[in-house]
Amino acid sequence: MTHRTSLPEPASERVIADLRALAARTSNERGAQRVAWGPVWREARAWFAETVKRDLGLDVQTDPAGNNWVTLPGASKKSVVFGSHIDSVPGGGWLDGVLGVVAGIEALRRHAAAGTPPVTLHLVDWADEEGARYGRSLQGSAASAGTLDPEKELAHLVDRAGVKLPDALRENGIELARMVDAHPWMMSRDPRAYLELHIEQGPVLEAMKKPVGVVLGTMGVERNMVRFEGQAVHAGATPIPLRKDAFLAAAEFALACREIAKKHSGRTPRTRVVATCGVVKVEPGFVTAVSGATEISLDLRAFDADVLAKMQKAAVRAAAKAAKANGCRVSWSPLLSIAPRHFDESLLALTTECVREAAGSAPLLPSGPLHDAAEMVPLMPTVMIFAQSSPGISHTRFEDTPIPHLDKSIRAFLRLVERTVEKVAAEP
Ligand SMILES: [Zn+2]
Repeated sequence: MTHRTSLPEPASERVIADLRALAARTSNERGAQRVAWGPVWREARAWFAETVKRDLGLDVQTDPAGNNWVTLPGASKKSVVFGSHIDSVPGGGWLDGVLGVVAGIEALRRHAAAGTPPVTLHLVDWADEEGARYGRSLQGSAASAGTLDPEKELAHLVDRAGVKLPDALRENGIELARMVDAHPWMMSRDPRAYLELHIEQGPVLEAMKKPVGVVLGTMGVERNMVRFEGQAVHAGATPIPLRKDAFLAAAEFALACREIAKKHSGRTPRTRVVATCGVVKVEPGFVTAVSGATEISLDLRAFDADVLAKMQKAAVRAAAKAAKANGCRVSWSPLLSIAPRHFDESLLALTTECVREAAGSAPLLPSGPLHDAAEMVPLMPTVMIFAQSSPGISHTRFEDTPIPHLDKSIRAFLRLVERTVEKVAAEP
């Protein structure tokens, strides 16, 4: 028989000390170097395994996709899953991903200190969230979600050094063909909720002067390359009215996309939308030539699927108009289309309580970037907490969150794990 005492008060000191220890072990003067499948990432995972063994006496289990799991068995097999990713981009920050994993260790320590929990707790470190080396992000969580097709999506990938992804996987004990088994591996553990603490990576909470936010879900994305074709001619010989300048068509299109984003944006974080033209390829690319063809990328994001569809339609019209005005033709090639993923209403309510308790207020905002949590949405009730980023940047060694804000976000997350365990325990 187990005698369960109340949990220790949520505290952030050990989490922050662990984050510093991990950063010291896996960063250099250019920032964090925990790129998935490489030696520094393995070093970070060794630290993780040593820490959970030392503090909890628990072993790490690696699933068929390379995700690392630590399990604190409960009275029931029903389980609450939480975690994030230990991998980083090259020259990354000290918090992106690791915050959620390291706070997860503390959640296990708190629950273990109070005896056997009523349900089972799983901490997961997802493999290759960043896609920094091979370009496919959310690899491990997508495998667990059953949405990854390794043969189609991964088998052909090669890194800059010429190493094939299947070989890099094998070096880490993973067989490409077996990665799909990660899905039944996770589902057999009866997961009832997924929770993730992450830094915001953007400037919204900082602008609102809020230390911690409740994440509503992840925005939908429509990403396309748009190609304008006109006529390449000599810059000196061709009068303006006789040109078919593909670059100018693309430029007018880019400005129109900014207006589309402004028009469809509401005033709240939930209704804010974005449109970004991040790549422009001008052909032939001489200072003395009018562009005969220009390719421009468009990345549209919105939390509301209808709004995203309207933006996409408006962008198609704007491209046709800009093409016509410059005597050009236009064609579209799709790069990525992802529906918005909305988090669970009852977990959002619980998270709001926990964040308000720790931080005084609980602003709601969607995430523009995708996260492992988005992959869990179709499988189980899911929610995330954001810690303010200040400065509001990430994927650089300058990424940071002030310690008082970090403290509040960690305490909110620890409370959320506790309440979710109680909630799942009470469910049939
Ligand atoms: Zn991340």
